[in-house]
Parts: sequence; structure tokens; C-alpha cells
Amino acid sequence: MHGDHIYGLPGLLSSRSFQEGTSPVEIYGPPRLKEFIELSLKVSETRLKYDLIFRSINENILFEDQHIQVSSIRLKHGVPSFGFLIQEKDSVGPLIPEKLKERGIKPGPIYQEIKKQPRS
Ligand SMILES: [Zn+2]
Repeated sequence: MHGDHIYGLPGLLSSRSFQEGTSPVEIYGPPRLKEFIELSLKVSETRLKYDLIFRSINENILFEDQHIQVSSIRLKHGVPSFGFLIQEKDSVGPLIPEKLKERGIKPGPIYQEIKKQPRS
């Protein structure tokens, strides 16, 4: 964790508290990030008006639903560092009736069947 990766975080958290943020905040990072944040807040006598939930990351999936997947990946850097990879999943595109009609496929339940087919 180089300084330019983390020095802004205590200020951001502090500002959020000052601006009446009260809902908990989850922080994803290397294990020592927790130590850094807690020490920074202690030395500056900052008391947040909300809870921090630290999530230690390695290379793994942090979030996934039907549309996206968020993973942490190890970066090639001078010190242990992780980046976040946000990947949009493939989704079914719109059916274009004109194209089907051009191929002689008449409208009907078959359109739904075609839409369910995996793309090749
Ligand atoms: Zn760096």
C-alpha cells in the first residue's frame, strides 16, 4: 500500500462523518489497511458517526449478480497491491423481427425459442 493509494482515505471517511453520514461503510483492502485507518483516526482524535466494516481481500470474487462480477486481482507493483476488476456479463440482445422475416421466419412462439438459444 503506497501512500498515494491510501492517504486520502482517512480524510474521505472523516469528511463523510462530518457531513452526517451515518450508515456503515464497508472497506475492501489488504489486511493492514485496517491498521492504517484505525491509527490515523486515533492519532487525529477522529470519531466517526458510523461503523466501518473491514473486508480483507485476496484474489477472489467480491460481488456477483446476474449482470456483473466484481473481483480483486493482484497487481504487478512494488508493494502488494490489488486492483478491482468489474466485468459485465453477457446478456441476450434484442430480437430483430425484420431480420427473422428476411429469412422467412414468421412471427409466433418460435421467436421466443430463438431468443433463448445460446449465441454461436
Ligand atoms: Zn503505488
